[in-house]
Amino acid sequence: MINGRLRDTELIVDLGAIKHNIHEQQKLLPPNSKIFAVVKANAYGNGLVPVAQTAISAGATGACVAILDEALELRDNGITTTILVLGITPVENAHVAAEAGVSLTVGSLDWLEEYHRLASENHYTKPLEVHLGIDSGMGRIGFTTVEDFHAAVKFLREHDEFEFEGMFTHFATADSADDSYFNRQVAKWEQFVNSLTELPPFVHMANSATGMWHREKITANTVRMGISMYGQNPSGRELAATLDLKPVEQLVTTISFVKKLRAGESVSYGATYTAKEDEWLATLPIGYADGYPRCMTGYKVLVDGQFCDIAGRVCMDQMMIRLPKRYPVGTKVVLMGRSGDKEISANDLAEQAGTINYEIMTNISNRVHRTYLS
Ligand SMILES: *Cc1c(COP(=O)(O)O)cnc(C)c1O
Repeated sequence: MINGRLRDTELIVDLGAIKHNIHEQQKLLPPNSKIFAVVKANAYGNGLVPVAQTAISAGATGACVAILDEALELRDNGITTTILVLGITPVENAHVAAEAGVSLTVGSLDWLEEYHRLASENHYTKPLEVHLGIDSGMGRIGFTTVEDFHAAVKFLREHDEFEFEGMFTHFATADSADDSYFNRQVAKWEQFVNSLTELPPFVHMANSATGMWHREKITANTVRMGISMYGQNPSGRELAATLDLKPVEQLVTTISFVKKLRAGESVSYGATYTAKEDEWLATLPIGYADGYPRCMTGYKVLVDGQFCDIAGRVCMDQMMIRLPKRYPVGTKVVLMGRSGDKEISANDLAEQAGTINYEIMTNISNRVHRTYLS
């Protein structure tokens, strides 16, 4: 993978803002609550290892990732806390997790039985830490009946190659103004929790949205903090944030080329933009291969505290903007973030692109160099 260190385009990641956002959430949780920092997908694009280290130093008890490879990358970089893989790991690779002390999500008895068979056959020695996933209505992974869940708990407790470390569920609508579906999920989750006489060490049900809008309904000891840790509102604009969040990232570049465009001259693929009068045009070294969506054609960026229109189509590696006056090569341009008193947020970009802030963030490609502020 090529990382563009020798051009000016960068994603500036404010690690101090990550700490601030975690502390804001901690303040509003009961005293013994724990936080798992959700750092899947390269920490929502911000950089897996630096974000995980920062979150742990800010008080997070553990980290959640989507796939086992992400967990191993954390272990290889000296992270020793609990690390939970949220997705289902192929059972034939699960011994790698056991060896690295990585916790896995399990959603069926079949999976446990197969691991038990492999463990006996191959003489695995280190126990595997298991979190049982409960599908209370997300419809993605996990146990849907208390009976199946109990059979899995019994199997875990009867076999030495497992440790029953946690149980959790995930909400489909915690970021919505209508809480009826959320409440049904909570009721179902509570049947599972109340059915056990002895709970595992980590019981978790809250994502960012639950930690933000349903704190009083949390029956669990751990919150999985994802997008709110990055300073973003999980609902987009539907609900007002109840934490004082600081956005963590800014996407910036500098002008790489400037010229006078004459009336009647056109710009970029398809020649869809034609200058009506003489104007200053700047080229930026960033395009859709960097994760700045091509459908932002027609949108705007910030130069010197002013909005400037994108001129013509966003290309793979470059794009053009219209300047209000001549600015020199090297002038800073903000594609996401603040300039003067104006801001383009991840939500603004998401709205323009017809998606959500999560996708804007995770799409910033590896070619964009990450710069860290502490
Ligand atoms: C991604 C994910 C989270 C984090 O979600 P946010 O909305 O970013 O807080 C929490 N739990 C599970 C199971 C996830 O997949």
